[in-house]
Amino acid sequence: MTDLHRLSIRELSEGLANAQFSSRELTEHYLKRIAKIDVQVKSYVTVTPELALVEADAADTLRKAGGANVLTGVPIAHKDIFCTQGIKTTAGSKILDNFISPYDATVVAKGKAAGLVTLGKLNMDEFAMGSTSENSYYGATTNPWNLDHVPGGSSGGSAAAVAADLAPFATGTDTGGSIRQPASFCGLTGLKPTYGRVSRFGMIAYASSLDQGGPMARSAEDCAYLMNVMAGHDAKDSTSMNQTVDNYVANLNDTSVKGLRIGIPKQYFNVAGLAEDVKARVEESLKKLEDLGATLVEIDLNMTESYVPTYYLIAPAEASSNLQRFDGVRYGYRAENPVDLMDLYKRSRSEGFGAEVQRRILIGTYALSAGYYDAYYVKAQKVRRLIQQDFLKAFESVDVIAAPSAPTTAYKIGADLTPVEMYLGDIYTLAVNLAGLPAINAPVGFDQNNLPVGLQLIGNYWSESQLLSVVHQYQQATDWHTQRAAIAEENA
Ligand code: GLN
Repeated sequence: MTDLHRLSIRELSEGLANAQFSSRELTEHYLKRIAKIDVQVKSYVTVTPELALVEADAADTLRKAGGANVLTGVPIAHKDIFCTQGIKTTAGSKILDNFISPYDATVVAKGKAAGLVTLGKLNMDEFAMGSTSENSYYGATTNPWNLDHVPGGSSGGSAAAVAADLAPFATGTDTGGSIRQPASFCGLTGLKPTYGRVSRFGMIAYASSLDQGGPMARSAEDCAYLMNVMAGHDAKDSTSMNQTVDNYVANLNDTSVKGLRIGIPKQYFNVAGLAEDVKARVEESLKKLEDLGATLVEIDLNMTESYVPTYYLIAPAEASSNLQRFDGVRYGYRAENPVDLMDLYKRSRSEGFGAEVQRRILIGTYALSAGYYDAYYVKAQKVRRLIQQDFLKAFESVDVIAAPSAPTTAYKIGADLTPVEMYLGDIYTLAVNLAGLPAINAPVGFDQNNLPVGLQLIGNYWSESQLLSVVHQYQQATDWHTQRAAIAEENA
């Protein structure tokens, strides 16, 4: 079969179960595509063909023996922030260029236990700091819809790989939008779960109180399959919640759009940088949801202007603390010929970290320093609580909240935005992480340059099933999620 890459996860699962193709055939198919097409997309930092084929053969053997699960033998690729035993894990940084983890992240281990076959590791902004994937030591990934544009970030490799059909689905992480924004830029569905839903064990930390892993795929249905693997309590992550895990696939039809109250935050649609095309496509998608029976309710989210400054204090503060461990001593890059210990620290970190990471370490260290702690860090924490309360109040009168995922479509590579201009592009995604809420991106059309536009739906705590279900209903009635970039149509 030449078009295995066009099959959904359910179709892959069924095809494997009915012996229409083997996991080896499927895996070889994807490896061939990666070898040919990823030269242009540059979504993988590391491809692991030998290992993938060993896992594929093991999956086929298990299936013949009658021990297969629903996903046994289905390929996946992981964002290079998830530790993989025996395979390099870089987090997009030079400082981890030689790092091979001695253990698997829980998300990776769960994937293996479910029988998923690992194709490799995907590019990302260094330590997940960025919105374009250009902040990677390994070079920029391109957007499959237009190779002169970025795929978004920080999970840009994950988004580009899926959008170019170089992986059927992928893991991502979202600290301030890094699943939803690249999903939006690449025309995919991506879910940022409630904080505590997915284990952070073995996921290299950026800002621990905001980081959350989640699925990136073509459809809500495909995401649901991966959520069934990723979600759940983990004793190895103290912030992972012991909360009942839904069967996200079984629940796909459980929420009816009929009668669903969708909150439309007034403030969100008056943001200065909101592109006309994005606004138009998002409004059309809301109209469609209205046609399907939803009610649109105007709401207030008064804290909107505080999102960017609050996040860009808290996230760098936590990052400056988390990144202290990269000191050139225990693991990672070490500067050559240091004259003394201080020189070793200074040069290992100056040579090992890129400019954006260094900028955040400086901002974060400043915000946490004795003289400024109350004025910046503590104040930001107080505002964070107000932002959360704003959402809780809104959820008293609506079921979900709608917004664009990003104010624009994908930027051009090398657009050379200032850091602040770049940070302002995160306006629609940051608050969800500050409040710990779940949210999903769904593709809802294209701008005049044929670049994808995304709708974001934000849910109350633990409402992942509801979000997936609503997007699933929308996707049953529309075909935006089935559109493919020209490069994905190419055969290997
Ligand atoms: N763009 C945001 C940042 O640079 C969000 C990144 C993320 O979610 N990892 O911090």
